Amino acid sequence: MSRWAIGVDLGGTNLRIAAIDEAGKILEKVSLPTRTRQGPAAVVREICQAVGELIHKFEAMEGGIGIGVPGILYLEKGILKQSPNLPGWENYPVRDEIESKLRLRVCLENDANAAALGEKWLGIGRNFQSLCMLTLGTGVGGGLVLEGKIWHGFLGMAGELGHIVVAEDGLPCPCGGRGCLETEASATAIVRKAQEVLAAGRSSELMKFQQDGGELTAHVVYEIAKKGDTACQEIFESVGRYLGIGIADLINTLNLPLYVIGGGAAEAWDLFSPVLFEHVRQHSYIFCEGSTRIERSVLKGDAGLYGAAYLGLNGAVTAPS
Ligand SMILES: [Zn+2]
Repeated sequence: MSRWAIGVDLGGTNLRIAAIDEAGKILEKVSLPTRTRQGPAAVVREICQAVGELIHKFEAMEGGIGIGVPGILYLEKGILKQSPNLPGWENYPVRDEIESKLRLRVCLENDANAAALGEKWLGIGRNFQSLCMLTLGTGVGGGLVLEGKIWHGFLGMAGELGHIVVAEDGLPCPCGGRGCLETEASATAIVRKAQEVLAAGRSSELMKFQQDGGELTAHVVYEIAKKGDTACQEIFESVGRYLGIGIADLINTLNLPLYVIGGGAAEAWDLFSPVLFEHVRQHSYIFCEGSTRIERSVLKGDAGLYGAAYLGLNGAVTAPS
């Protein structure tokens, strides 16, 4: 059997654990709800139990465990400093707790960095040495892979690209700033914009959906926009505008060959990307048409899981060449 390792994607809502071999084949994937209310110790116990079952089933694991977590880390210490999606985990020593229970090497990584590494390993970035990835979910995550390695910065906290400022005098952001990319291009921002459309009575389709008692999500807004609803289409044009402004800044700063957009809200690529490219052309004078690539993630929801498994296999932050 080929070498394999465990990838864990520890989200605020879902906990996904997979055994993945060195060729990138998923041997088995387990999905559980993250019982955040029960606190970190209970969640760690669940992770250890699921990992133990996978090891028992497939045996002879040569790799370790890679874990992607949503939040800011003290990378060297393996401690989660803070996470808006995992309340009660502040300063929790995730790495040491799991290592001591399973007696296996654990590599902790920010989830958006893990997703960028996953795309570099097996996704749209596999033929590139450097890339930048934005993950549009509840927030906007960012990851930088430079010359084959995740760029961590000196404290291990680099790549918070969701908090570059794109809207002058914009709305407050959970980070304490205002007008961050996250406040304009996350799934949360799409829902907020839809609520504004509803309040203004600008979309009969959205009103009908609300009257039927459905839960308003970014996916619902996307489905309604796809059917031709102008007000909902404008929401995605606004997302494209701010993504374009943000990516133009990244292009001007980094001059990388590839920028990847992933996360659930990337499904609306067809609706936001024309405006995104328009604003990139307008705001970046080193954007090179036909050469600088801006692409949608191909691994979609599994990018972070693959990236985490890559860290489990290699125990380092060096990506494949
Ligand atoms: Zn922010």
